[in-house]
Amino acid sequence: DTPAIEVRNLRRVFHVRQGLFAPAREVVAVDGVSFAVPAGSVLGVVGESGCGKSTLARMILGLLPPSSGDVLVDGQRLGDMGRKARARLIQPVFQDPFSSLNPRRRVRDIVAMPLVAQGDISGSEVTRRVGEALERVGLSAEQGGRFPSQMSGGQRQRVAIARALVLRPRIVVCDEPTSALDVSVQAQILNLLSDLRRDLGLTYLFISHNLAVVEHVASEVAVMYLGRIVERSEGEALFHDPRHPYTKALLASVLTPEPGLGVPDVGLGDIMPDPANIPPGCRFHPRCPVAFARCGVEAPKQTPLPTGLVECHLAEQAAA
Ligand code: SF4
Ligand code: MG
Repeated sequence: DTPAIEVRNLRRVFHVRQGLFAPAREVVAVDGVSFAVPAGSVLGVVGESGCGKSTLARMILGLLPPSSGDVLVDGQRLGDMGRKARARLIQPVFQDPFSSLNPRRRVRDIVAMPLVAQGDISGSEVTRRVGEALERVGLSAEQGGRFPSQMSGGQRQRVAIARALVLRPRIVVCDEPTSALDVSVQAQILNLLSDLRRDLGLTYLFISHNLAVVEHVASEVAVMYLGRIVERSEGEALFHDPRHPYTKALLASVLTPEPGLGVPDVGLGDIMPDPANIPPGCRFHPRCPVAFARCGVEAPKQTPLPTGLVECHLAEQAAA
């Protein structure tokens, strides 16, 4: 079966100048990422801010060209696809519904935008499809006549989801879709996204800094650290048997450590990952509680797991 999304050795470099006369520095935001997302499933991508997950999302949406590597959507190279065809196949839902919705337009016109941009669609068809999309996300026709400022944060995120669905895409890229919302509203939006996926057979790439949110929706989870996927596994396996010290630390930060759960209380300390300054060897070694000499000089290779892969010398040694 053709995967809904496939990325091959994807890499994105930014050139950042920190002062007028300073030399440009290379910031490698995404550094050799490969994965495939089967149709109808949800790949959660989790990591701290600065790990490259939004850069990855923007490349998969065709909003940012990769420095090298390929993005295939439904088996077609993204670079070979026109903008309209791409919009019919893959749509985004972003974090902040305040900034992504035009405040001067009514909700129904905001939702209609992707359809209208396709051209040659009759007014009555637009009305019908917009009504259908609003209904799918639990908004009424009356609410379609409002402005974004007259709606709550959760309702605005429903508008953004309706706009993403109006072209009936197969794939939706959600980048922190609930991070700007109150916790109670977050759960409603996550449930809505899960229902939509099931009812419409959608595939999601679901990006979040919050492992608990990802656990709620994802069938498979990729953990990103400074531009690389350091562990990828089926959701269950990742949450119950994490292999990478960074995954363990992330889990420990959202769970109360409990004896016997296999989740050690590993703190991440106060070193923030800096994509402009990637450590040699294993890029996690300055923060890793179990680092040893080799970690500072040699980058670990990918080691296959029963349901995924991990990049850590310890896993490599255990498998040898
Ligand atoms: Fe820690 Fe070394 Fe594994 Fe990196 S390779 S995660 S530093 S043990
Ligand atoms: Mg981000």
